[in-house]
Amino acid sequence: KAAATIMGISFPKNTMRDCSAIIEQAIEQDKQELFHVITGNPEIVMASQKDEQLRTIIQQAGLVTADGIGVVMVSRLRRQRLPERVTGCDLLLELLAAGNRNRWSVYLLGADEETNRGAAEAILKMYPHIRVAGRHHGYFKPEEDGRIVQEIATAQPDILAVALGAPNAERWIHKYRSQLHAKVAMGVGGTLDVIAG
Ligand code: UDP
Repeated sequence: KAAATIMGISFPKNTMRDCSAIIEQAIEQDKQELFHVITGNPEIVMASQKDEQLRTIIQQAGLVTADGIGVVMVSRLRRQRLPERVTGCDLLLELLAAGNRNRWSVYLLGADEETNRGAAEAILKMYPHIRVAGRHHGYFKPEEDGRIVQEIATAQPDILAVALGAPNAERWIHKYRSQLHAKVAMGVGGTLDVIAG
């Protein structure tokens, strides 16, 4: 099962089901290394064109999903058919459902305080077996990174959902990947806003 290469990014040919199974395995195997999931949405794909560091971050990710109908359509024109679009929002909801079955913990980083709290409350209501191991809004100064990284490392979440805008979330995760002690981390764009409602 080869990958499709579009605008310099390699997209493995995974369905949503494949993606959630790969991530579930990463969590259950409990390797000591953080598994970075990148949703290859238009902002990230475009930003990566003139940003070599971002391309390196994407290459080093554990999983890249095709989060854009454009990427999926281009893959079909080129006969490198990607099976379906896998958006960050759908994928996070899928992971929360899996987390509810497996009693995973999540840490929510990002969005404004009210949205962040609202998302945590909504998750606890919809997925009662998930543990919210911690949360922090996304409007902090770079000087506060260390404190927040430490908080996450202490919480040791199965899933770290990062809503800091793309591609800031991806850069932040990559920068601190060895210190976060999260099993899986993923930039989730505006998904906390969606969940908070
Ligand atoms: N966000 C944040 N801190 C920031 C910038 C954005 O917490 O410095 C949050 C914002 O509140 C929203 C999410 O990141 O919940 C996604 O923001 P946006 O829609 O601007 O980014 P994108 O959709 O491009 O990822």
